[in-house]
Amino acid sequence: MTANLLDFDLEGLAAFCEELGEKRFRATQLYRWIHQRGVRDFDAMSDLAKSLRQKLPDVAHIASLPVLSRQNASDGTIKWLFDVGSGDAVEAVYIPESDRGTLCISSQAGCAVGCRFCSTGHQGFSRNLTTAEIIGQLWFVEHTLRAERNTTDRVVTNVVMMGMGEPLQNYNALVPALRTMLHDNAYGLSRRRVTVSTSGVVPMIDRLGLDCPVALAVSLHAPNDALRSDLVPLNRKYPLAELLAACARYLPHAPRDFLTFEYCMLKGVNDQPSHARELIALVTSFNGGQGLHCKFNLIPFNPFPDSGLTCSDKATVQAFADLLSQAGIVTTVRKTRGDDIDAACGQLAGEVLDRTNAAKRMATLRQGTGTVHTIQVTAASAHNVR
Ligand code: SF4
Repeated sequence: MTANLLDFDLEGLAAFCEELGEKRFRATQLYRWIHQRGVRDFDAMSDLAKSLRQKLPDVAHIASLPVLSRQNASDGTIKWLFDVGSGDAVEAVYIPESDRGTLCISSQAGCAVGCRFCSTGHQGFSRNLTTAEIIGQLWFVEHTLRAERNTTDRVVTNVVMMGMGEPLQNYNALVPALRTMLHDNAYGLSRRRVTVSTSGVVPMIDRLGLDCPVALAVSLHAPNDALRSDLVPLNRKYPLAELLAACARYLPHAPRDFLTFEYCMLKGVNDQPSHARELIALVTSFNGGQGLHCKFNLIPFNPFPDSGLTCSDKATVQAFADLLSQAGIVTTVRKTRGDDIDAACGQLAGEVLDRTNAAKRMATLRQGTGTVHTIQVTAASAHNVR
């Protein structure tokens, strides 16, 4: 088995080149060919020494995940389903807008966090993606769309780690992928344009702030521990006070001076004025009344089969947003994209597989509580952020 060069950030590629007896600057050349130009044929890398071009095919290859399907929505959103083996699949979604092109990327096949509102969470956890499988989604989409559009201009301007999986539970594979997204000799995206979304893995939020601070979005979904523990089981391990403290520690490292909280609007569950008031008190009273500099992104819930949940109606979402805004908190309501291709949280992959005993477990939870809290997110994301 030869090395997949998508697995390396520049440092890793330099180490690989040194192992081959090559100078480190060869790594920069390779990195540019791979990520800036999308070239996978070593013979075409014309500024590499001929001896290296001859050596590489025996020890290395460049490959992203095989594509199982592609769907184009009428609004320009495109969703790819990638084969990760053993009957598993992950997806990436490209969302074009007038001033940007956002790619939502998966980090794991399935997810172990098991949020009750998430279709990926219902599938259970299969495995972590490798760095090559994570960055390969960007590599594939960027260069496929450039070729289709016959352009050398950047197509993906923003990346959000909000597809399947909890990225901070696949930290070691995630960070080299992030570094490649940011590196000037690769994709050169600014830290503001790369967002990691987390359900609240507190120790890894701290590490990310030190290792590779990018924009951070936190899936909040509830204003108190009782409700949040019900919706996001990880809250039992890292309750709100710890999570908000980690957010505050992250802020000095963040590329913007605020964090984004994602909040999925679930009818009758978390969408009442009392929830909004509790949320306002939570963030404004933080740190002895200093508050936490944040914005809220309200996400209309888009139900998936057996979710048992419905989306708050428009008026309720607007009233909720108005309450937050009146309290001085910047609040947006996410637009729905790619509806006609179900470009939402793990939805297609969810149709392909429902693994483990997740369905049974969820059914048991439902019986126990009489309520089902499931979510599917518009336009790409398990963590619902953009
Ligand atoms: S919302 Fe995110 S963390 Fe929660 S189950 Fe879905 S993918 Fe996992």
